[in-house]
Amino acid sequence: MPSSDFVVRGQRVVTPGSVQAASIYVHRGRVVAVRPFDDVPQGCKVVEAGESVVLPGLVDSHVHVNEPGRTRWEGFKTATRAAARGGTTTIVDMPLNSVPPTTTLEGFRQKLGAARGQCRVDVAFWGGVVPGNLQQLAPLHAAGVVGFKCFLIPSGVEEFPPVTENELRPSMFELARLGVPLIVHAELPGPVERALAACCAGETGGDPRCYETFLRSRPREAEDEAVALMIGLCRETGARVHIVHHSSADALPLLREAKREGLPLSAETCPHYLAFAAEGIADGATEFKCCPPVRERENQERLWEALREGTISMVVSDHSPCPPEMKRRQEGDFLKAWGGISSLQFRLAVVWTEARRRGFALEDLARWLAHEPARLAGLDLRKGSIAPGREADLVFFDPEAAFVVAPEINEHRHKLTPYDGQTLSGVVEATYLRGEKIYERGHFSERPTGRLLKRGDEGKSSDVFDDVESFED
Ligand SMILES: [Zn+2]
Repeated sequence: MPSSDFVVRGQRVVTPGSVQAASIYVHRGRVVAVRPFDDVPQGCKVVEAGESVVLPGLVDSHVHVNEPGRTRWEGFKTATRAAARGGTTTIVDMPLNSVPPTTTLEGFRQKLGAARGQCRVDVAFWGGVVPGNLQQLAPLHAAGVVGFKCFLIPSGVEEFPPVTENELRPSMFELARLGVPLIVHAELPGPVERALAACCAGETGGDPRCYETFLRSRPREAEDEAVALMIGLCRETGARVHIVHHSSADALPLLREAKREGLPLSAETCPHYLAFAAEGIADGATEFKCCPPVRERENQERLWEALREGTISMVVSDHSPCPPEMKRRQEGDFLKAWGGISSLQFRLAVVWTEARRRGFALEDLARWLAHEPARLAGLDLRKGSIAPGREADLVFFDPEAAFVVAPEINEHRHKLTPYDGQTLSGVVEATYLRGEKIYERGHFSERPTGRLLKRGDEGKSSDVFDDVESFED
């Protein structure tokens, strides 16, 4: 029998592919065994989850922390508090919106320096592909980023410009050689420029306060054509490609076909595309603005079908907040407002609220919200499931309880979110990080104990940045 420091047991423990009554043996912050409920070593300390569901600590591979440089938008302290309260024990930070962006080794060093000592959950990092930084990719990879992100259309911040097909191709050959994924904001500028010109032209130009105007300015074709381009580049270069925040249901047949072909390609969607529909967004409600946009109800149901069949394999937040004034709520101008939705803390509850009424199960949640994002980031040998060898990141979750989203419980730096005032199903009661309780019913542990993670091949717990300078090999 494996030695354990303590056992967590419950009637509904979500392990890969099943929900069962089980005892989870924890030793030095790791799960060392999953045994039958009554199989507890004599004299061993037991933490009883009772009727609560025990989920693996969730992994969110799409979070814009914005620190350093735009810390007024969001920062490691507040973002990781929100994560812990929402049941997410690992986030992967996006390479843009911070200044400098994580597109050079120096930028990465500053990012690590900013994060150090502030994090309540574990944090890993994406690097960025921008025009002219091909030579930085191998050093950033060696330093421990989990993969790279690029944009095919302006990102919204000038220090992270988009790449053209010809700029991207050599970078993708390099990423294929390095064996790390490229994650892509897949919208092409051509269709957006044409649509903007059409919908804002002349006296019949669309009202910028009307959601319909914004929706028409970011047509599905922009995503569909970008996905087609990325499938071609994936085939040509052999690079592992992942489409972020996928919204257009019209591109799903292309993704389905690429998967059938066996290409190394995957896609994610976000809670807002699954929970909201364009028809329900009021004039001027710019807290709903994001790119690509929330689309029509018919589109939304097809995204759910894609999740059901596995064409879309995960749901991550794309938490991308800004100071409230940048949302221009007073004017309600969708075209001028910052595009980004604040939602890190609420991902689990939003997805569960929508998923349960469509007949999905707790195992689906664990796969979409924990295991698949961990796998994308190369962290699945240590994160994302309750299984021997994985870190003891656990969430006690009451799927039958409900709560109302309100500023008092919202841990994000800014409280503006389209979920405000909504009643959501599923309450996180407690969150454990490597066997240590970091959150319980509105209260946090005294000290932040999150680690900064490197992409590791073997899932060793030593794959962390103990010393910011240490990656200078
Ligand atoms: Zn994003």
